Amino acid sequence: MKKILFVTSEAHPLIKTGGLADVCGSLPKALAELSQDIKLIIPNYQALKTSENVRFMCAIRVDNRNINILETRMPDSHVIVWLVDYPAYYNYPGNPYVDEQGDSWPNNAERFGLFCRIAVEAAMDRINQDWKPDVVHCNDWQSGLVPALLSLENDRPSTLFTIHNMAYQGLFPATAAAKLNIPGQLWHPAGLEFHDMLSFIKGGLVYADYITTVSPTYAHEIQTAEFGYGLEGLLDHRKEFLGGIINGIDLDQWDAENDTLIAQTYSVSTLDKKELNKAALQVKFALPVNDQVPILGLIGRLVEQKGIDLILECLPEMMEMDMQFVLLGSGDKDFEKQLKKLALLYPDKIAITIGYDEALAHLIEAGADIFLMPSRFEPCGLNQMYSQRYGTIPIVRKTGGLADTVTDTLPETLANQTASGVVFSEASSSALLEAIKRTLILYSMPDYWKKMQINAMKKDFSWQRSAEQYLSLYENI
Ligand code: ADP
Repeated sequence: MKKILFVTSEAHPLIKTGGLADVCGSLPKALAELSQDIKLIIPNYQALKTSENVRFMCAIRVDNRNINILETRMPDSHVIVWLVDYPAYYNYPGNPYVDEQGDSWPNNAERFGLFCRIAVEAAMDRINQDWKPDVVHCNDWQSGLVPALLSLENDRPSTLFTIHNMAYQGLFPATAAAKLNIPGQLWHPAGLEFHDMLSFIKGGLVYADYITTVSPTYAHEIQTAEFGYGLEGLLDHRKEFLGGIINGIDLDQWDAENDTLIAQTYSVSTLDKKELNKAALQVKFALPVNDQVPILGLIGRLVEQKGIDLILECLPEMMEMDMQFVLLGSGDKDFEKQLKKLALLYPDKIAITIGYDEALAHLIEAGADIFLMPSRFEPCGLNQMYSQRYGTIPIVRKTGGLADTVTDTLPETLANQTASGVVFSEASSSALLEAIKRTLILYSMPDYWKKMQINAMKKDFSWQRSAEQYLSLYENI
């Protein structure tokens, strides 16, 4: 049995802005089910929600500040969660990283710098809990200083750093390094310095004993200039210690057979009932109720990464086809504005909900026929896996985890029963439009379509498989 300290800035259902939270909510539970002794450490944001009791555990003094550590559990599980409680940094409303305008909180370096320091104190058991982990598993830049600071300790635990998205690096002006009292041994271009900036992610990439990312394809992609953001050389240099493990999905939450957030549950053997969700979705979005017209759905952050610009370019032409398009998301204000404008122009065909809505996300997965995910890059991606489990055929670009989890529909993949979606290569609106047309042709052939749906629904995206891979890594580092 391994003792694992899991360091993350978000974990579903406590606090979530994206896929990182899904992973950090599910993986620890899956590891606990494999009998591992795992504890999470996370900042105590005001927006953090839990149904479990929270108790004061201990207080420590770091950098002349008094910090409390509270203890709770992941809802509906035995996984212990340590909350880093420092109200001046974490007790304000809203998103963990950005304000209402989408701008980063001005003190993010201090906020996550302190979080990392406390994680190090916990990792070295200087919080006197008689619990010292064998492995510290860090996630994304918010935890990046942990492997760096631990590298200076004697008798330290092993460190693993998982990249969920290379696009977010935690870059701050060099003055932040002084403010955070970064030790001199770490402050140089082969350390935390990146073009005269302080780079949190480099703390993980340079100093962790092993690095993973969330799909094998993305692990290769980030060693190239297109996806590496200037860190491709470092990643190539460390490639012996870099691997990809695909995320699972939480089948307690994303299972069409037991989903309480959809209008009608269904399974492979009752696939016809999916239609009731389609009708409910059309009602919900005030679109004409019609079971013949294909619904294309999209859920996600409205940012360039997700190829929203490609969709905006395609939409006028899509409106000449027989289809409906529903979208749930928020992000770039300009994308939001353009989407709303198109929805006003085509009220019978396009419906947009700007915002974050867990229940509606489930209804879209269950009610749509097709799911659009034309990402420019996608470290792993979750929605394409949810879609497949719900028999909603994903259209994806061949990149990162999308390439690793969706099998394109071709004569041979139909024959060997692996076809589960439609995959296209070029990040252009014309390639996307071609893929949409190809999908609609398949949709018009119910026998083929049903085969694709069944192949997709039967795929194994369980966490257990991924958790076992992490466990064997913990044992090897
Ligand atoms: P990323 O982590 O890049 O945002 P992923 O596909 O890995 O993308 O994960 C996104 C997660 O967030 C999924 O669980 C998705 O359903 C959820 N999500 C994103 N936007 C919304 C939204 N507006 N409402 C509800 N859920 C959302």
